[in-house]
Amino acid sequence: MTQLHLLGSPSSFPPLPTRWDGDVVSWDNWQEHIRTSADFHGDQPTCEGCGTDQRPHWATGSRHPSQGEVIETTTRHPYKAPWGTTYQTPHTRYTPATATIQFHATRCGWCGHTEVFDNDSQELWTLDDTDYNTTGSQRPTTTKHPAALAAEEDT
Ligand SMILES: [Zn+2]
Repeated sequence: MTQLHLLGSPSSFPPLPTRWDGDVVSWDNWQEHIRTSADFHGDQPTCEGCGTDQRPHWATGSRHPSQGEVIETTTRHPYKAPWGTTYQTPHTRYTPATATIQFHATRCGWCGHTEVFDNDSQELWTLDDTDYNTTGSQRPTTTKHPAALAAEEDT
């Protein structure tokens, strides 16, 4: 006897974008969404796409650095001056960037409604047909990255 599978399958919808604003993204497998206290209080959110209260599936995505991207790290090292005082002098190092988890995707198994939270920009995106193609997901030209907006305000 096979067990009735109550949850819809996120894999029956298109694979998540393999690129995000040009950078390569690799996604972990879909898994059951973590339970939160909202589940225990019976007020879990419903899907914006179809209205089901079944929990969505969840996957993390890692952004792979572009060619030559480095991470700057500064550590402090003690330096003892000839007159006896010890100072902490900064040493900056540049190491090749590695892939880091930057995205959290949730997908409704019933209708395929998919949202991606970008840890870098702190934005939540609802994916549509334009995100599922060979060039991946691209930021709309009408919506600037929050860091770019902040830089404009500073000038
Ligand atoms: Zn849905």
